[in-house]
Amino acid sequence: MTDPNLDYYKATIEEADQFNQNLFTPDIRQCERCPLHADANLACPGFFTSLPLDILFLGQNPGASEDKVGRPFIGKAGKKLMELADSINLVTSDTMVGFTNIIRCVTPDNRPPTGVEIQACSRWMQVELDMTEPKVVLLLGNTAIPLAFGNKKIGQVAGSARAMGSTIYIACYHPAAILHKKSAAIRDSIIKSLTLAKEVLNAVH
Ligand code: URA
Repeated sequence: MTDPNLDYYKATIEEADQFNQNLFTPDIRQCERCPLHADANLACPGFFTSLPLDILFLGQNPGASEDKVGRPFIGKAGKKLMELADSINLVTSDTMVGFTNIIRCVTPDNRPPTGVEIQACSRWMQVELDMTEPKVVLLLGNTAIPLAFGNKKIGQVAGSARAMGSTIYIACYHPAAILHKKSAAIRDSIIKSLTLAKEVLNAVH
């Protein structure tokens, strides 16, 4: 059965859930490394269609929709992201795609995570990066940018790429940036970053 809301995972929910259960999901769901776990319904570990990954979409933190089901990017931001990705055919049925966040629990009122929370969750970030060996990581927004671009802001680096090991990190505006404030410039910038990801993937395949 394909869940229409999760069509963009390009895998059946059963297949994908089964696959992800065998990874680190149980450990992450039991994590108490920072206080956020206490108010989370379900922590949202990374969600991967298969390994190794072609593309890992890396956001900030799960929102309320994600917290309900325990999977990243199933809400409006994820749908917007995949609408834009589909507009340039970035993800095909052959593309191994994954979704995760800098932190894995919902935050109060969806506020950005603190440095302490990011540090506490960095263990899972490292585990997921080591395990998924992504060819390309799309760093979505200011919270994800420091993973490859130091203390730069998204406005300074959007559309830039940086290689670290065998992974290319690409800076991209977060899709939530165009959900409320419809900015053609930011939409164009996201498309530019996604197009760069597609070019990188075509070059390394
Ligand atoms: N925004 C994010 O950064 N991550 C999600 O999982 C959902 C919304």
